[in-house]
Amino acid sequence: MKRKSLLYEGKAKKLFQTNQENVLLVEYLDQATALNGLKKDAVVGKGQMNNQITAILFEKITEKGIANHFIKKISKTEQLVQAVTMLPLEIVVRNIAAGSFSKRLDVTEGTALPFAIIEFYYKEDRLDDPIINEDHIKVLEIASDVEIREIKNLALQINQVLKELFAMIAIDLVDFKIEVGRTTEGKLLLADEISPDTCRLWDKETNAHLDKDVYRRDLGDLISVYREVLQRLENKGESSCI
Ligand code: ADP
Ligand code: UDP
Repeated sequence: MKRKSLLYEGKAKKLFQTNQENVLLVEYLDQATALNGLKKDAVVGKGQMNNQITAILFEKITEKGIANHFIKKISKTEQLVQAVTMLPLEIVVRNIAAGSFSKRLDVTEGTALPFAIIEFYYKEDRLDDPIINEDHIKVLEIASDVEIREIKNLALQINQVLKELFAMIAIDLVDFKIEVGRTTEGKLLLADEISPDTCRLWDKETNAHLDKDVYRRDLGDLISVYREVLQRLENKGESSCI
């Protein structure tokens, strides 16, 4: 598979066209950003951690029969995915109160939520990704009623798969963000990445942050915690049967 023209350069990844129609090459970058790009640093090794972790998590999601864009990992920092038209949405699922939820609603971080909740954010850097509701999604013509229902089901199914997987490696899945895209046939697919950049992962025993909050909040070395997550995922077969 050959890299062709650069299609898009984002904060964490580059997307390239390939010699195969509808197949994109994603390169994960050694770059960390927070606060909508206001905080930005080069972090050697981050690209390969997120590429490898995303590949493992998407393989698990595929195994469970959930439709997604992942094709295969082709190098330490690159993977092939099916090209889709992204919906300008960030879909957040929360199991435990943290981050903006805690701040906005004054709920102590770490409070277990009685059920998984879903939030939608309008992915628009210019507006700082505002939180929106289902009516807004319809009025902005981002998705139909039927599609919104499908997206919520997809998000909850992914939550179940990931929660169980992380529990096996002694990690609580606090919250995470996903993005979805539409194929040319109009089918919705889980796309983008799932990694410690897009999830809150807390060690079950110590509650230590094993995710991007280490960078956002200056809590320590990002690479060593991302490596810890990757190693636990890679070794999971040795300590349990899944
Ligand atoms: P950002 O755009 O937030 O800076 P990234 O650096 O992660 O983020 O850029 C990756 C971009 O690729 C995102 O805008 C994401 O929506 C988009 N994307 C992810 N998967 C696909 C896909 N399968 N097809 C087309 N675009 C995708
Ligand atoms: N998240 C993300 N990209 C964003 C915003 C949030 O991946 O642009 C993830 C974040 O890592 C966390 C979850 O979504 O796992 C919920 O984030 P929150 O709304 O609490 O925002 P934060 O305070 O982290 O910006």
